Amino acid sequence: MIWFLPLIIIGGLFFPVLGYLVVGMMAFFLVFSFFKQRYWCWHLCPRGAFLDIVLSKISLKKPVPKMIARPWFRWMIFFLLMSFLSFRIVRTGGSPIAIGSVFIGTCLLTTVISIVSGIATKHRSWCVMCPMGLLQEKIGTSRKTIQKKLYSSDKNSK
Ligand code: SF4
Repeated sequence: MIWFLPLIIIGGLFFPVLGYLVVGMMAFFLVFSFFKQRYWCWHLCPRGAFLDIVLSKISLKKPVPKMIARPWFRWMIFFLLMSFLSFRIVRTGGSPIAIGSVFIGTCLLTTVISIVSGIATKHRSWCVMCPMGLLQEKIGTSRKTIQKKLYSSDKNSK
C-alpha cells in the first residue's frame, strides 16, 4: 500500500483525477472502521506505511507532546481540516478535475505535516491527531456502544 502515497501526491500533481483514489479510500475505511475500528491505520494506510517504513529511520523519536493527544486538540484539527477541505471544494464550482486537485492538495499538505512532526517527535505522531484516524476511532466505538445497548435491551426484554 505504501506505493499509493507517491502515486497520489506526486502523480496527482500531473493527473488530478488521482484525487478520487483518496475519496475511494476514505469511503472504504470509514465503512470498514465500523467493523474493525482502526485496522486500516495499522495495516493498510499508505501514509501509515510510509511513516513506519521510511520516516521511522530518520525520526528523532522524541516524546510526542501530550497536548496533541487531547480530545479538544484532535477535534480542533478535525474541524480545521474539514473546513479547509469543504471551503476549497465549494470554490471549485463543481469542476471534477478541480475537486480531484483539492484532495491531492490536502493529502500533500497533511503528508508534509506528518513528515515534519514525524521527524521532530515520533514517526507516527501525525496518526495521534489525524482527522481520519479520529473518525475511524469514533465510528468503531459507536458499533460497540450500539452492540452493548442492543444486548442490554435484549436482556431486559427477557
Ligand atoms: S491515523 Fe491517518 S495517517 Fe495515520 S494511519 Fe490512520 S488514516 Fe493513515
